[in-house]
Amino acid sequence: MIELHDVRKVFPARGRSGEVVAVDGVSLRVEAGEFAGVVGPSGSGKSTLVRLVNLLERPTSGSVTVDGQVLSDLPDDRVREARRSMGMVFQHFELLDSRTAAGNVEHPLELAGVGRAERRRRAAELLDLVDLGERAGAHPAQLSGGQKQRVAIARALAGRPKVLLCDEATSALDQASTTGVLDLLRRVRAELGLTVLLITHEMAVVKAVCDSAVLLDRGRVVDGGRLAEVLTREHSPLADALLPAPA
Ligand code: ADP
Ligand code: MG
Repeated sequence: MIELHDVRKVFPARGRSGEVVAVDGVSLRVEAGEFAGVVGPSGSGKSTLVRLVNLLERPTSGSVTVDGQVLSDLPDDRVREARRSMGMVFQHFELLDSRTAAGNVEHPLELAGVGRAERRRRAAELLDLVDLGERAGAHPAQLSGGQKQRVAIARALAGRPKVLLCDEATSALDQASTTGVLDLLRRVRAELGLTVLLITHEMAVVKAVCDSAVLLDRGRVVDGGRLAEVLTREHSPLADALLPAPA
């Protein structure tokens, strides 16, 4: 469903001369229906990597293929169209404060030109799916962090995406809300047959939900594989990162 081939992303350095190689030759394959994790320390290129998957960033070189389409070859208008088949969830929810939960879920449908009655019907259905049917009229300020993230997930699902990209989706949440959001992601993945790519610096999150993961370090994939297999390997930087340090 997602295939990156030797992807590099070089930015001009902020506030100084020179360049930053944010992603340095990453190749990655995520199968349809898989729950895949990308872990790594801060600054290792995780957010850039997800933004490359939905072409919010264009690769400096290499190719990005999603659902059989080589997105990195497409012109901007076609990329915008293709991006509708991907939902994205962020650390700080990025909800519109002036809109209700339902209004937020309807927003992408409005942008896509979906009629009012259909938008309302879809938003109600999606809020039910994330167990927030009762809070459809609440504004973000009236919701907890976990509830806000569930609204953001409902919004990300509005365009019936095949792929859900989550960038530190639980990093701003407490333990209980994190568990709730992870359970929800697992459930929507199963019910809707989604492919999920989850970026996190929280190893416990990866262990709780991912089928597979890669470890990024300074823009490169240094280890990866199916979790069940990685955890039994003798020498695995990813397993070392996942397992709690010995006391
Ligand atoms: P992570 O999400 O793992 O913390 P990022 O992908 O945000 O890492 O960043 C990787 C590196 O690329 C960092 O050194 C960061 O400062 C740099 N970077 C990211 N985006 C930009 C940008 N738009 N311009 C310049 N440098 C950037
Ligand atoms: Mg990041």
